[in-house]
Amino acid sequence: MAGPGGAFRVALTFDAEHPDRPHCPPSNPERLLEQLEGAGVGATFFLQGRWVEAYPATARRVVRAGHLVGSHSHYHARMPLLSAEGLRADLAAAEEAITSIAGRNPRPWFRLPFGAGEDDPDLLRSIEGLGYRHVACDVDVRDWDPDRTPEEALRVAVDGAIAYGDDAVLMFHTWPATTALVLPEVIGRLADAGASFVTVAELPRRSTS
Ligand SMILES: [Zn+2]
Repeated sequence: MAGPGGAFRVALTFDAEHPDRPHCPPSNPERLLEQLEGAGVGATFFLQGRWVEAYPATARRVVRAGHLVGSHSHYHARMPLLSAEGLRADLAAAEEAITSIAGRNPRPWFRLPFGAGEDDPDLLRSIEGLGYRHVACDVDVRDWDPDRTPEEALRVAVDGAIAYGDDAVLMFHTWPATTALVLPEVIGRLADAGASFVTVAELPRRSTS
């Protein structure tokens, strides 16, 4: 446990994918990048291959800003539904898109779409066999949930990270308006509580497991 004043590390992660509903601010990912830059905070972005193809300039900007990049699959399918060959093809397509367009190979960082299959040891082994490692979240902010108010998202993110203590991985998404409404306050409050912000590659238990 890390109480206020105690030093603890927090990894902010953002899944970059197509919005799952209309009327999302098109410039939301850019706004998040500006907020992170303004706060001097490095984060981890899990990029969906098809999103990178649709938003190449934004994807390149994520890399240019120095954030860590992982794969969020190509088609954002539920991985347990794919055959072994389908899984291989999807991860390869994402890797090709991210590497050729954004200019950074996402290996070994990976996040399962919908978290589907994260309790399936066979699937996780298959993913590892393809050179990737699923990064689960410790605090699910549910910023995508239209029933979650910005105040709730802020509270869940801040209280969740503090309650978890050192090494918490927080999960956000790049497209909900809620995320850009709360991110500066999340960073400010956690910094006041003693947090330092790291990428998932800097969390010792992730890089050794
Ligand atoms: Zn996703």
